[in-house]
Amino acid sequence: MPTDNDGVMIVLSSPSGVGKTTLVNLLSKLKNFEISISHTTRQPRPSETPNKDYYFVSEEKFKRLIKNEEFLEYAKVFNNYYGTTRTPVIDKLDKGKNILFDIDWQGADQIKNKKLDYKLITFFLLPPSKEVLFERLSNRDMKDKLIAEERMGQFNRDVLHWINYDYAVINQDLEKCYLKIYNLIKAEINNESKDYDIEFIRSHIEKLTS
Ligand code: 5GP
Repeated sequence: MPTDNDGVMIVLSSPSGVGKTTLVNLLSKLKNFEISISHTTRQPRPSETPNKDYYFVSEEKFKRLIKNEEFLEYAKVFNNYYGTTRTPVIDKLDKGKNILFDIDWQGADQIKNKKLDYKLITFFLLPPSKEVLFERLSNRDMKDKLIAEERMGQFNRDVLHWINYDYAVINQDLEKCYLKIYNLIKAEINNESKDYDIEFIRSHIEKLTS
């Protein structure tokens, strides 16, 4: 039974390459914050550690988890499945842990629609410009410019989902972006006034998509 001492669910989504994983990792260093580890059918990247960054599983195993209704949410992103299993998340929230979700807009929608009795705060991260985003994507996938271009192509479609989130935050400067998110989470948890200018974000989105 959820109570006031329960943890808070914090969702961070963004188009690929906006620096979300770095931000989630920074936020997870806060006292009482933990990252939800997702399952995925994609192959591990050389920098990734199994069971820490993701639970890397076969498509067969993933489909079994779907069938057994173990997912709080799941989605297909860039030809791979990604999902959050329910039990570890609920157990931790009940113990008062704040849980960070690095998930896409489809997963964020599903969690929102579940209307769980836990407080939910959703963030959509934006790049400072399309040019910076392309540069970041190209640097990540040096050997595969095609992937960068494919993910860029996805950008215009993904960015439109910002409107379904509580807050959109621009990641121009990592430290400032982190502080902005941190202050909004704090204000939400303590029911204080929020420093958020949605019109500024709206005009930034117009520039990004024009
Ligand atoms: P990547 O392959 O770059 O790690 O992740 C690709 C996308 O999948 C990112 O937008 C990431 O947030 C999203 N993602 C990672 N885990 C999950 C998950 O459990 N559920 C959903 N819906 N999306 C996820």
